[in-house]
Amino acid sequence: MNKVYSQIAAELERGEATCVDIVQSYFDRIDRQRDLNVFITLCDRDNVVERARQIDRRLQEGRAGRLAGMVVAVKDAIAIKDVRHTAGSRILQQYVSPYDATVVERMEREDAIIIGKANMDEFAMGSSNENSAFGPVLNPVDESRVPGGSSGGSVVAVAAGMATTALGSETGGSVRLPASFCGVTGLKPTYGRISRYGLTAFASSFDQIGPIANNVADTALLTQCIAGFDELDSTAAPMAVPDFSIDRLRGAQGLRIGVPREYFGEGLDRTVRAAVMKTIDGLAREGAEIVDVSLPHTEYGIATYYILVTAEASSNLARYDGIRYTDRSPGTPTIGAVYTDSRSAGFGSEVKRRIMLGTYVLSAGYYDAFYRKAQKVRSLIKRDFVNLFASGLDCLVAPTSPTVAFQLGERISDPLTMYLSDVYTVNVNIAGIPSLTVPCGQDHRGLPIGIQVMADFFDESMCFRVGEAIERLS
Ligand code: GLN
Repeated sequence: MNKVYSQIAAELERGEATCVDIVQSYFDRIDRQRDLNVFITLCDRDNVVERARQIDRRLQEGRAGRLAGMVVAVKDAIAIKDVRHTAGSRILQQYVSPYDATVVERMEREDAIIIGKANMDEFAMGSSNENSAFGPVLNPVDESRVPGGSSGGSVVAVAAGMATTALGSETGGSVRLPASFCGVTGLKPTYGRISRYGLTAFASSFDQIGPIANNVADTALLTQCIAGFDELDSTAAPMAVPDFSIDRLRGAQGLRIGVPREYFGEGLDRTVRAAVMKTIDGLAREGAEIVDVSLPHTEYGIATYYILVTAEASSNLARYDGIRYTDRSPGTPTIGAVYTDSRSAGFGSEVKRRIMLGTYVLSAGYYDAFYRKAQKVRSLIKRDFVNLFASGLDCLVAPTSPTVAFQLGERISDPLTMYLSDVYTVNVNIAGIPSLTVPCGQDHRGLPIGIQVMADFFDESMCFRVGEAIERLS
């Protein structure tokens, strides 16, 4: 059984363990499970142990932070000063970050201990972690299967006991999809809830950092410590962060919970449907009112998402030019050749596909037909959610993924099938609302199934409250 933070805190409190013991035991688990390929870069062991020793001292003096003894894996798209930062790409394989992301600074201020940079799909583009330049991560439940992507390393670090919690990032489901494939909890916060300063940009109007943990309490605690306004990110919202620990325990009784019928149609695996329905019945028994609802523009989600994010990516990734951030290809005589050679050698095929698609939808003759139209559909998808929450619904519940984790290699040569893995996750990102995935069962092979709780803008409290009620059902 993986330890949750309340157990670690209790052991520290009773003097049964020290932070040094805790980090050693996580390093042991990492050493024993190298085959899962979870980390791209591990933090220097001596430095980590030294930091643990300092926190032990602060604990003794009674002045340690709220995350003392929590060991965290950080997706390799989030910057840590003086640590290699690859974003899963060959083009950044030598890059060392000169600064800390805001979330890293906030975690360290609370005495969390960062253990390493987790593997991911290149530039967070993918649903299976097979697009990493550093090789795929394996699903710890069944090593012939993918862990999901793009935050696969972060999720497996938590699922396989190599860290207490992790940070991933979402542009379109990259925390929730792998969390559901590996049986852990993960949050996509409201756009603007958590600072993106220090997160490698993929599609800036979608990107958000998201916490991952073995239970709702730890997910909420980590969110609590990193959320809130940041003057270094102009899109970080100047909103107060409520105390998540109070609302979390209030149960589902009296809540109006919507079940969007578009998330239960064709393509949904029978076993996934059964597990999700059983959970919804459980919420009804707890006294929640279950309401059948519709999000009529759901079916346009995948097309809208893959037009808008590729457009933004094609612009964001222009900065990797062989001159800044990265080594340039040797022997290139002209500036044009520096760009083409460095980018041709440095980017993987999915990233190139996205840059080409994005450039195409933004090009003069096609802008109106694709990009502008997708922006309009984005408004419609967002309005579907806004209307439901305005009608008095407290949250929505739906499967996180239509299937359980698939086999390595099964979808990688068919981009469209891969993109369809995201059918239940991307609309939340298009709209900007928060959504929490929690485990809700397993299929006959023991493969995890996840259910997501979607709530109104900045109502992460509701996600945690209903997520905790679901956790108590099982
Ligand atoms: N599968 C999505 C994509 O490939 C996931 C992106 C993300 O959330 N980072 O774009």
